[in-house]
Amino acid sequence: MQDCLFCKIIAGEIPAQKVYEDDQVLAFKDIAPVAPVHVLIIPKQHIATLEDLTAENAELMGHILVTAAKLAKELGLAKGYRVVSNCKEDGGQTVYHIHFHLIGGRQMQWPPG
Ligand code: IMP
Repeated sequence: MQDCLFCKIIAGEIPAQKVYEDDQVLAFKDIAPVAPVHVLIIPKQHIATLEDLTAENAELMGHILVTAAKLAKELGLAKGYRVVSNCKEDGGQTVYHIHFHLIGGRQMQWPPG
């Protein structure tokens, strides 16, 4: 997608602090971290929102969650962490390329704002 910020990061057109990459996903540090660890995990395939997912994407989404758990271990989040995906306006989504926030290193609160 030409105008997608995260597609540009995947293409290397915009720099990012990468923490993990394979053929299906990319993980990089959030530019405005809300916790000591704040990593975004994104599929390389452009999918705009959670609403756009189909059954065909099930394996990819599972791979993202397994990647989140693996990165959490590697990043030392033994006490726990949160994985969040915001969907559309009410969900607080600002970048329309599906992403999962891996957030940790401090006590989380519930409910979120
Ligand atoms: P959303 O609000 O759930 O859509 O999350 C988008 C996230 O992307 C926010 O946490 C932003 O701080 C982050 N973000 C925006 N631009 C960049 C960038 O260029 N590099 C890394 N993270 C970014």
